[in-house]
Amino acid sequence: MDDYHRLYEEFGIEPFSPLLSRLSEPSLYMRRGIVFGHRDFGRILEVMQTHGGFAVLSGIKPTGEFHLGTLMTGMEIIYFQKHGAQTFYCIADIEAYEDNRIPFDKSAKNAVDNLADMLALGLDPKKTYVYRQSKELRVKDLAILLGRPVTLATMKAVYGERRIGLYLSALIQAGDILLPQLEDFGGPKPTVVPVGVDQDPHLRFTRDLSRVFSRKYGFVPPSSTYHKLIKGLDGSPKMAKRLRNYFTLNEKPEAIAEKVSNAFTGGRPSVREQRELGGVPEICPVYEICLFHFVEDDDAIRKTYDACKTGKLLCGEHKEQVIDCVLRFVKEHKKRKEKFLEKAKAVVQAS
Ligand code: SF4
Repeated sequence: MDDYHRLYEEFGIEPFSPLLSRLSEPSLYMRRGIVFGHRDFGRILEVMQTHGGFAVLSGIKPTGEFHLGTLMTGMEIIYFQKHGAQTFYCIADIEAYEDNRIPFDKSAKNAVDNLADMLALGLDPKKTYVYRQSKELRVKDLAILLGRPVTLATMKAVYGERRIGLYLSALIQAGDILLPQLEDFGGPKPTVVPVGVDQDPHLRFTRDLSRVFSRKYGFVPPSSTYHKLIKGLDGSPKMAKRLRNYFTLNEKPEAIAEKVSNAFTGGRPSVREQRELGGVPEICPVYEICLFHFVEDDDAIRKTYDACKTGKLLCGEHKEQVIDCVLRFVKEHKKRKEKFLEKAKAVVQAS
């Protein structure tokens, strides 16, 4: 938790928990402290309570299949959509090109699959503006407009010494975040951007730019919520492609089961010690799989936590339960997703 406190103190991210009681239906991530921080979320709360207009924008870098990190952002977009937000889903293909050298046509293919996942999870396509960065002229225009006052020194201060393409991609992302506020979409409005905490530099950068251009365009500084990053299955602080420490929703059940079986845990070296001392769920990715996803019931999570701490639950049996739970979800999800593939293809082609 120390790292998160550092974010409050050094970067001005505010803790989310004091706002919880003002939300009539906080999401699972909010209730469990996975959404731990925000910038200016009070503005969003106000419009949620008064049924004023607001927007949610987030998206996906289409570098591959849907994994647990993208699942979290996806569920947050859907949460705000269900609570009245005008919804924008960005396929970040310029970012995928700049960061991961993925050509636009490959991104489009990945995006079809990713969007089908989102539709299967409950995103309403009729109420969502889906677009590709490379095709959305308004985002590119915004990037050019927003880039005028930005100096190289600013870019270096925010992002460090990077290639020009990455700076360009940062301006494009600022364009994404302010897109919902253009007249074409109903004009300036509060906008929430739910992201992982590693995305905060983009939010700070865009909030600064929105103030620079506020007199001319009336931009409202975008709000954000920050979620914690789920640990990798090897116990490292985050899931990463290069570490192969995660699973996707598209993997074969046997592959998922094997990965969870072999995952690092917060268990003790022997059954006897685990019974005596209890496990350490705080460092355990298997526990996080349940905490972040797959177990809706807060009571069930509390019971699991207590059973681990008191040594009643052993890692082997817990892994079996989690595998069961994940595979049930994945099976149902795959069935739903199949039905949305054609729709997703049509939406991406039209975007
Ligand atoms: S019992 Fe479960 S939560 Fe506790 S350390 Fe083992 S795998 Fe993790």
